Amino acid sequence: MLLSGLLLPGPLQTPYPSLPPISAASLRPRAATLRRAGGGGGGGGTVPRRRLEVRALDAAQPFDHESRASDLLERRSKLKIAIIGFGNFGQFLAQTFARQGHTLLAHSRSDYSDAAHSLGVSFFRDPHDLCEEHPDVVLLATSILSTDAVLHSLPIQRLRRNTLFVDVLSVKEFPKNLFLQVLPPDFDILCTHPMFGPESGKDSWTGLPFVYEKVRIGDANGRAERCQRFLDIFEREGCRMVEMSCTDHDENAAEIQFLTHTVGRILAKLDLKPTPINTKGYETLLNLVENTCSDSFELYNGLFMYNKNSTELLDRLDAAFDSLKKELFANLHDILRKQLFESAQSSLERASN
Ligand code: NAP
Repeated sequence: MLLSGLLLPGPLQTPYPSLPPISAASLRPRAATLRRAGGGGGGGGTVPRRRLEVRALDAAQPFDHESRASDLLERRSKLKIAIIGFGNFGQFLAQTFARQGHTLLAHSRSDYSDAAHSLGVSFFRDPHDLCEEHPDVVLLATSILSTDAVLHSLPIQRLRRNTLFVDVLSVKEFPKNLFLQVLPPDFDILCTHPMFGPESGKDSWTGLPFVYEKVRIGDANGRAERCQRFLDIFEREGCRMVEMSCTDHDENAAEIQFLTHTVGRILAKLDLKPTPINTKGYETLLNLVENTCSDSFELYNGLFMYNKNSTELLDRLDAAFDSLKKELFANLHDILRKQLFESAQSSLERASN
């Protein structure tokens, strides 16, 4: 440990920051000299006895070896990420990526230069220019329905040979198969689904689920490490990291996500309004409408069209609603029938008396 910032009494103190730091080893003989000069052993000499003491530790200086090493480590942990599809969700992710110090590039069908500028993101109208920047990661945040066309329109031949491709689509089997078909074998593939959005994740991502499958990550040249650095972004925010196959994700997501969005959109059709006697349950319904309808209809449509489990879920929802209605009407019929027959019986009895 260097003692360059020790405040040393008297002649040992060095006021010149440019001088090389003084090591503990180099101080030892001088301290011994001082002890002797101070009459060590209580001999009553004329030079007053002065003790070496640590009064302040220095802050790391940019020229320190440790400081340079930690800078290098910090730089190495940062990624150059290109976001393709800079709409609602792309911009939401960019805020956190930028806060964590990653270099961000973006491209979208619409011109988001101003929004990008305010987030510290370099916006490229032409995807050729973006690809020539050789990002470490290309992240697709396009609508599910447009992903195929967008991926085919990218000049991937301009990228580095082993770029990592990531998607954040809310369905997973579809982008996995698409990437495997379209991307050259040298490209790495990570399929992810951050299961939260600009509404549910606006304050914090702590505890929110992040699902991923490492579909294809090569062994060579730190490719596994690059993938881990990308995952670390979400881990650092406190997400609940769930490694799961794309197939299992879609099975689960039909129930969790498509069902939630469908119920929210059915309720939205009722045009529910707050009342002076709102219950907690009713407020939950109002929130559900707000949360689900703030996402685009295109997103919801994508959940239906690109998850084969969604059709079955709609059928089950239909059947459940029918069965519930049957139960209610059967009860109602029982009561009406009872009333009808009982009143007919009592009229007969009254007539015979
Ligand atoms: P979205 O409506 O699903 O997608 C909007 C994005 O798709 C915009 O960047 C838009 O580009 C692009 N796009 C739409 N049609 C296009 C076309 N024909 N050609 C090129 N680009 C097109 O809304 P989103 O909420 O931003 O979601 C983006 C992705 O993130 C989706 O795959 C979604 O499943 C996923 N995701 C969303 C959430 C969420 O809470 N919102 C959560 C997790 C995952 P322009 O804006 O430039 O037109």
